[in-house]
Amino acid sequence: MPVFGAPQVMFVRGSGTELWDSDGKRYLDFLGGLAVIGLGHSHPRITQVISEQAATLMHVSNLFATDKVAEAAIKINELLEEATGAVGQVFFCNSGAEANETALKLARKFGGRGRHAVVSAFGSFHGRTLAALAATGQPAKHEPFFPMPDGFRHVAYNDIEALEAAIDPSVAAVLLEPVQGEGGVLPAEDQYMRDVRALCDERGLLMMVDEIQTGYARTGEWFGFQHSGVVPDVVSMAKAMGNGFPVGATWAKHEIAAVFRPGDHGSTYSGTALATAVVSAVIDEMRRIDAPTLAAKRGEYFTTKLEALPGIAGVRGRGLLLAAELADGADAKVVYSQLLDAGLVTNAVTPTSLRFAPPLTVTEAELDEAVAMIAEVLA
Ligand code: PLP
Repeated sequence: MPVFGAPQVMFVRGSGTELWDSDGKRYLDFLGGLAVIGLGHSHPRITQVISEQAATLMHVSNLFATDKVAEAAIKINELLEEATGAVGQVFFCNSGAEANETALKLARKFGGRGRHAVVSAFGSFHGRTLAALAATGQPAKHEPFFPMPDGFRHVAYNDIEALEAAIDPSVAAVLLEPVQGEGGVLPAEDQYMRDVRALCDERGLLMMVDEIQTGYARTGEWFGFQHSGVVPDVVSMAKAMGNGFPVGATWAKHEIAAVFRPGDHGSTYSGTALATAVVSAVIDEMRRIDAPTLAAKRGEYFTTKLEALPGIAGVRGRGLLLAAELADGADAKVVYSQLLDAGLVTNAVTPTSLRFAPPLTVTEAELDEAVAMIAEVLA
């Protein structure tokens, strides 16, 4: 259906940071399928796991267990336990929006009747299903679909007083991105995250973080919330955890996950053997290469090079989730299109800025090549 606009390029193959189109032209992928391809395209280990698992067992339904779903849940919990000291439980799904739906339903069950509202930030993006869209702080995206589901309110990002003012006895949870990705690559201030945690503790609210774009090492930590040292109650994740295979998950502290009873939530494809085998392989491979450190180092290198370019007014973001603000009122859509012609895939995340989310395995040589293309197009 015509919801995506007309694409400019048709890709047929990818390897690492590289893509090739149907004419055989090579590109560098500095968007990573919208922050999905953390380990690079056609990663040999992930390809091997997908083909072996497809030949062994793909799906049995949640009436039964598999070794793969248990393994992946344990690995995700280990990541979160290392990041927070808390032990939790995992629900698997197939996308970011579904991961947030799970979090939103959990918040309602936790809050109980009459205490179901969720506060999120203006500029946020939480997905396209109706409740995830209602949580998304972009009124223009709601407008065609009125009436929106009840129980959602939005406040200015990075403004603790605005958040405090929005809380009344009907509020059960706060949902925030550690870096607003779709909103323009805007990081939350560390102190703001800590203040949100303190406020949630004071008022008995869940602090839920949407790590769908920031998660799995992209910001230089396994999860974006780690930069501020807070311990969230609920974490939603998707994108990079499948390296292109569709999978999402919601982690919640054990005592919070426990408010769900059998039958409260579900999905036919929750935690298929195939999807969860991929998740385990992604986590193992990211641990092996120390992906958070790679993202931090490469991000710093790329930022320094970008900041030195005359046509760039500033660089923001964390790790390898970055945006370059263009100088002199340059139109990001025009620059995006010219970069694509030159062989660099990026995204105009605002009218005046470009987003970069390359694979965390990007090499310095590839970063140099991208910087040279950007310099030439801006010149
Ligand atoms: N949350 C955040 C922070 C996102 O960036 C996105 C997608 O861009 C989503 C949720 C929705 O994820 P999905 O498109 O997989 O439903």
